[in-house]
Order: sequence, then structure tokens, then C-alpha cells
Amino acid sequence: MSENIEICPVCQVKIKNDREVIFSAGKPGDRTKLWARVCQYVADKRPGCINQDSDKISPIKPTDTYKPVTFEQKQ
Ligand SMILES: [Zn+2]
Repeated sequence: MSENIEICPVCQVKIKNDREVIFSAGKPGDRTKLWARVCQYVADKRPGCINQDSDKISPIKPTDTYKPVTFEQKQ
């Protein structure tokens, strides 16, 4: 089976076989995860992202985003 790898020119993330997303760090994910973590933030500012097709993006689950960073509240 041949692999088809696309690289998003905006996010610099690889999408394998139009489905599996290879992040520069961490485990591979899917287009939804990529959207939740990266693409939703660049959509308006940087046209050309190849992961803006809403048909291929599922509703975002809490596990799709990065774990929220909690800062210590200083009073
Ligand atoms: Zn992108």
C-alpha cells in the first residue's frame, strides 16, 4: 500500500493517507485533533491550511485539545 503524505503549508503538520495526522511531538492523531490543536487558530490569519474541510472534521471532544494548562493563582 502506498502512502500519501501531505504537509500543511501553514501548520507544518503531516497528514497521512488523508486521515492520520502526524504531529511533530506526541502521538499521531486525526484531522479533528489537528483542527482542535492547531488549525482552528490559524484559519483566519493564514489561508492555505489544508485541514479546513468541515466534512472531514468531527465535533471536537475534550480529549482532542491539549490538556489545559493550569496556572497557580497568585493573590
Ligand atoms: Zn493546517
